[in-house]
Amino acid sequence: MDFYASLSATLDELRRDGLFKSERPILGPQDGRIRIADGAGGTRTLVNLCANNYLGLANHPEIAAAAAAGIESHGFGMASVRFICGTQDIHKALEETIAAYVGCEDAILFAGCFDANGGVFEALLGAEDAIISDSLNHASIIDGVRLCKAKRFRFANGDMGELEDRLREADAAGARFKLIVTDGVFSMDGCVADLRTICDLAERHGALVMVDDCHATGHLGPEGRGTPALTGTLSRVDIVTGTFGKTLGGAMGGFVAARRPVIEMLRQRARPYLFSNSLAPAVVAGSLKAIAIAQGADDRRARLASQTKRFREGLTALGFELLPGETPIIPVMLGEAERAQSLARELDREGVYVAGFFYPVVPLGRARIRTQMSAALTPDDVETALGAFEAAGRRLGAI
Ligand SMILES: *Cc1c(COP(=O)(O)O)cnc(C)c1O
Repeated sequence: MDFYASLSATLDELRRDGLFKSERPILGPQDGRIRIADGAGGTRTLVNLCANNYLGLANHPEIAAAAAAGIESHGFGMASVRFICGTQDIHKALEETIAAYVGCEDAILFAGCFDANGGVFEALLGAEDAIISDSLNHASIIDGVRLCKAKRFRFANGDMGELEDRLREADAAGARFKLIVTDGVFSMDGCVADLRTICDLAERHGALVMVDDCHATGHLGPEGRGTPALTGTLSRVDIVTGTFGKTLGGAMGGFVAARRPVIEMLRQRARPYLFSNSLAPAVVAGSLKAIAIAQGADDRRARLASQTKRFREGLTALGFELLPGETPIIPVMLGEAERAQSLARELDREGVYVAGFFYPVVPLGRARIRTQMSAALTPDDVETALGAFEAAGRRLGAI
């Protein structure tokens, strides 16, 4: 078959199955309320329940000002990888700052956490080693593990019994080093990894622990230091990966934080670091400001927590089925993809922007609308959203 015809056929199939993803341009900054074109020449405003903008820092004026000042003092672009001529003082400052924030000795920057996870495994482990991975881990971890020659073991999400079985199997297979890897917060379900038990098992079986804390750094735990701080496992986790593209200003950039030799080795061997451009000065300067603001933002964390509680209670009272949890990720379970999409459409009509998730992002029959709370939302926005869920849910017979 002709290549282009084959692509068109596959795209048609995605459309037919309701799995086609389209993008909706926002007319302005990321925020609790966003403006979009109404399709009739005008605009309308939606309450936004699907950004990873947990503390509402994506459009913080001090962060934008710091980014602008970063351009003034350090220019627009680096036009180099880090080790040739792409390292500025502010890159070193951001590495030191993020390392201290997440409780590690040192850190290394990447273009995104996708790249951090893509580079970390291959650079540190070889065919003699084993990686034991939670089945709900992020796609970038799955890809990073694929690029590494280590033996692979998988355990069902959060199943600590299975994790221990896999550790034993890795030993039986003669693994030299074993690395357990987990998301800190699982992005589709909103649950927090049981890092205490994971660290206990790691110690008992002589394994290392890596946590991808993208959905936690900046807003979960004391001072927003993430799930290791939240679960009291700060000094027991070996490697933390994370992003500046979510809570910490939401621009872009990722990092790996760990002990010094780990970071030194990544600077020598991590391919997405060695062969990709250095982070832009504006992003670095803005992210530095974002960490400072996030660390002191107990007021925003309190607002986020109270809105999370109110929205969860409100949806439950309306009769929606939620996944349990305490994070600002609140998944509304709807079963079939079609129902999730219909509800998303109806919510849009009611002035609320949500994203439906369905197979293959989540298991078949477990389609959902993933709502995310944000300190950028006002209590009024949360009530508006609940009213919209009630109206839309009733119209569709979902409640
Ligand atoms: C968002 C996310 C990533 C990717 O981070 P980027 O910085 O956007 O590349 C990786 N892992 C997890 C768990 C994420 O949620």
